[in-house]
Amino acid sequence: MKIKCPKCNDIAEMGDDFSYVKCSKCSLDMTYGEYVRFLTLKDARYSDILGDYANDTNGNAAGTLDDW
Ligand SMILES: [Zn+2]
Repeated sequence: MKIKCPKCNDIAEMGDDFSYVKCSKCSLDMTYGEYVRFLTLKDARYSDILGDYANDTNGNAAGTLDDW
């Protein structure tokens, strides 16, 4: 089954029994469990960036309002 490679965004191949994820382009070769963890880490980092940005914006906005 074809999936998007989490590393290079090319087409990777996932085993039909979810036993492996392989990408011939970047030599990705991991188990499905590792693949899920990889995606989770990536998403978590992405969420953190968005969360920090949102917090900073809210903090600055609140601070500005308090100052005024
Ligand atoms: Zn790849």
